[in-house]
Amino acid sequence: MNKIFADLQTSVFEAMSLLARETGAINLGQGFPDDPGPEDVRRKAAEAVLSGWNQYPPMMGLPELRRAVAAHYQRFQDVTLDPDSEVMVTSGATEAIADTLMALVEPGDEVVLFQPCYDAYLPLVRRAGGVARFVNLSPPRWRLTREALEAAFSPRTKAVLFNNPLNPAAVVFSDEDLALLAEFCVEHDAVAICDEVWEHVVFDGRRFKPLIGFPGMRERTVKIGSAGKIFSLTGWKVGFVMAAAPILRVIAKAHQFFTFTTPPNLQAAVAYGLGKDEAYFSGMRAGFQRSRDMFAAGLAQAGFRTLPSEATYFINIDLAASGIEEDDIGFCRRLVIEHKVAAIPVSAFYAQDPVTSVVRLCFAKRDDTLSSALANLEGVV
Ligand code: GLN
Repeated sequence: MNKIFADLQTSVFEAMSLLARETGAINLGQGFPDDPGPEDVRRKAAEAVLSGWNQYPPMMGLPELRRAVAAHYQRFQDVTLDPDSEVMVTSGATEAIADTLMALVEPGDEVVLFQPCYDAYLPLVRRAGGVARFVNLSPPRWRLTREALEAAFSPRTKAVLFNNPLNPAAVVFSDEDLALLAEFCVEHDAVAICDEVWEHVVFDGRRFKPLIGFPGMRERTVKIGSAGKIFSLTGWKVGFVMAAAPILRVIAKAHQFFTFTTPPNLQAAVAYGLGKDEAYFSGMRAGFQRSRDMFAAGLAQAGFRTLPSEATYFINIDLAASGIEEDDIGFCRRLVIEHKVAAIPVSAFYAQDPVTSVVRLCFAKRDDTLSSALANLEGVV
């Protein structure tokens, strides 16, 4: 057996969801909305299943979806992509990340990761033969610094794997942060693998800027997106990966032997959805922002101190600032068993030097779910 995978534990999200089911807790752990998602998009998928073609679609994805992805990023992020050579459909963003790492990393190459770091990244980097170099980000701002990048980059740096907006920190990196990272990638001739699945879930009037738009990055960025996050349909696992043709061609070689394709009916529905008007996307943001505000106010009322939530489905409790002395794992265990609320300890996003006093809660839930959770959290502090 492969030791890297044999030694892994079950993902914290799966483990917490299981525990929530077993204990009957309200699940604010794993990040998924509890509304069914846009009905017109789901209807398109159903129609495509019933009347459409249900055999293998092209390996790179349905042409209509690849065109819709390119048009979408032109419209929202001013990124020009050739749908034929620079866009590929994957079975979720995680597949896109795996494809990219398997395609680009050679044994011994260094890959810069940013902690807190999504749990899939490190095992995939290691399985690809890469050596992880960590940049540690610190609450409450989780900013990049020149010193931290200088310490992490080396002549062996092949790539950075960068998540913006950042799960679980719930922040959006500033233009200065992005310019700094771009400068290091160019200087070290490194590829930036950008997991931008939260690009549409940004609040307070923010407009998301992709790293690929920064000077020198167009030819060295692999941009990854997710229909699951754009349409609150996380179970669909429809992702996209975009890169200059010479890079994408190699990533496609990995994709063809991992999943090969993604269900064509879901692809057709996503192609339709990406063309929705601005009102859909601003409405989605406004809905999540309202939930964030309601939940943040309830947490404050219950005595919790929280960190800023600028993006994603998440808000973080600062345990120490809330006067709670337990670490995040102990707190989450107590929370799910005694108070029937499942949350995620942020230390699960670290391979070393963890921050142990931050706990992530998902607010992408109906008002009644959030109210019940807040009632359960009453008296915890
Ligand atoms: N992205 C989701 C989260 O952060 C988890 C997805 C999964 O369970 N693999 O909660």
